[in-house]
Amino acid sequence: MEIYCDNAATTAVDPEVVKAILPYLTSNYGNPSSSHWAGRKVKEAIASSRQTIAGLLGADTNEIFFVSGATEANNLALSGAINAYEISHVITSKIEHKAVLQTLAVYEKAGDIEISFVKLDDFGNVDLKHLENLLKANPQTLISLMHGNNEIGNITDIAAIGVLAKQYNAIFHTDTTQTIGKLPFNLKEINIDFLVGSAHKFHGPKGAGFIYINKKHKIKPYIIGGGQENGQRGGTENVIGIVGLAKALELSYRSKEVVQTHLAKLKKHFISSLDDLTIGGITFNGESRSVHKSLNNIVSVAFPCLSSGNLVSKLDNLGIAVSGGSACSNLGSGGSHVISAIYKNPDKEIVRFSFSKFNTIEELDFIVKAIISIYQKDRIEEAKDYVQTFNLAS
Ligand code: PMP
Repeated sequence: MEIYCDNAATTAVDPEVVKAILPYLTSNYGNPSSSHWAGRKVKEAIASSRQTIAGLLGADTNEIFFVSGATEANNLALSGAINAYEISHVITSKIEHKAVLQTLAVYEKAGDIEISFVKLDDFGNVDLKHLENLLKANPQTLISLMHGNNEIGNITDIAAIGVLAKQYNAIFHTDTTQTIGKLPFNLKEINIDFLVGSAHKFHGPKGAGFIYINKKHKIKPYIIGGGQENGQRGGTENVIGIVGLAKALELSYRSKEVVQTHLAKLKKHFISSLDDLTIGGITFNGESRSVHKSLNNIVSVAFPCLSSGNLVSKLDNLGIAVSGGSACSNLGSGGSHVISAIYKNPDKEIVRFSFSKFNTIEELDFIVKAIISIYQKDRIEEAKDYVQTFNLAS
């Protein structure tokens, strides 16, 4: 039996997306830059994909640019804004994705920017009052704060941050990789300068994403040559990725309510099953427990350390794919920067379970049974070890 519960890492491609992509792998193979019929067909597909995405997000078509994914989009937004506006100060948080933190670190190391980290509460929520104080003290600022955290699922109020950004004349970039297609927002109504999306997080193909650049900005391309994407990103377009991205987003929007209801049901069921366990010492990270302050598809759990190995690989041995945020100290590996930013006692094993529309309650029940049996075995082994040590000592 194989159970996939690592959907914040990536998702299965929806069969309807596969169907939409197929013609671009077979008959529609032209280069979109060619002026003949074969090129035109593909160029039209890219234009209509752009229109679909812009329409769903409330953007204009000239504000959507296709890139390879959210890492590239975050890099492009941050470096583009820093260079275009000679930004010398950036406000971000310690729980952003590495695509943001490491990009900013390069500029900081070069002496181009100073970084202020906004305060987070014990649950990983952004302190908006502190953000406002930082904005007051620092004119000409770039804010980079994510919408949904990929490890703990926390949702940040980007509409409120957009208001503050406007009030203090700051530029606002938000990493929306985990929320595009899941949470509703209308770019006509909220103030955002840059946001990003990645198809493989919502049942599209890997290696395809987009950046939204508010039309008031003109930033330099990151990849130069060929003039594609209106000069914003050189290189022959990833046509199957783009067509798949648009189809996947369209499907996500079409079934958003149904899928979110299903995910919330899975989340509540899983949390209450873990609450009922007699293992003891199980806690939840960030706002993971909440279905309002946290994404419905992410549950980040802190488990008591096993003495016989780690839970993530034991689950993997049973066919269950989940991801580990940080290891117990006896396992000796480095932990997640997100967990260490919010979690004061990291002597627990952090496991992220992330669901998709394809997961079922039965799968979650199987995972819970697997967890019970892993802990039962571990405690038997621990007791055996104890008896042995006791016998040797006496
Ligand atoms: N930002 C966040 C919040 C993410 O979860 C991810 C994917 N782990 C990325 C950026 C990078 O996305 P991509 O795989 O498309 O480069």
